[in-house]
Amino acid sequence: MHTGPGQLRSVWQSQGTSSTSSTSIIITSVPAPSAWWRFLLNRISNKEQLHRVFPSKHTTNMCPICGDEVETLRHFVRDCPLKFTFWTIALPKINTLDTITHDDTWKALQLKTTTLYHSFLHHHLDALRLIFQTIWDMHWRTVINRHPWLFLIAESHLDSLISRSPFIIPDSTL
Ligand SMILES: [Zn+2]
Repeated sequence: MHTGPGQLRSVWQSQGTSSTSSTSIIITSVPAPSAWWRFLLNRISNKEQLHRVFPSKHTTNMCPICGDEVETLRHFVRDCPLKFTFWTIALPKINTLDTITHDDTWKALQLKTTTLYHSFLHHHLDALRLIFQTIWDMHWRTVINRHPWLFLIAESHLDSLISRSPFIIPDSTL
């Protein structure tokens, strides 16, 4: 299936959000392919899903990183302890609103926005996308390449992505 901007626009509109000029900015700011793009199109394979569909090939649904919990989509993206800690490290790099919490970012990632989240997304969408991309890259570095998850590596990877992003204008929080 073609995964162009039109499909993502459908995802956005299915959330019941009207099309506005700022909405268009958000949609066109999510480049493909990216980890977030996969997420929005429900194309991130996780162990819970793989084990359910291919039980003989994926014999367990447990998280390959922490080994303590079932790897649901939410665990893959946010709740695995190492990733949760990284979100805690990374969010202050972009978070100029003290009220933004982990739950807020989870909703923002799904483009489930209220007025508050919409403002947050509008200002921090690319930084949020790069945090997610770092989680994605670190996940496979750990699972496939079997490198240990090191926060210094993750943070340096994120800083590198941010510094190369043409969309992020550094401010006093960076
Ligand atoms: Zn885990």
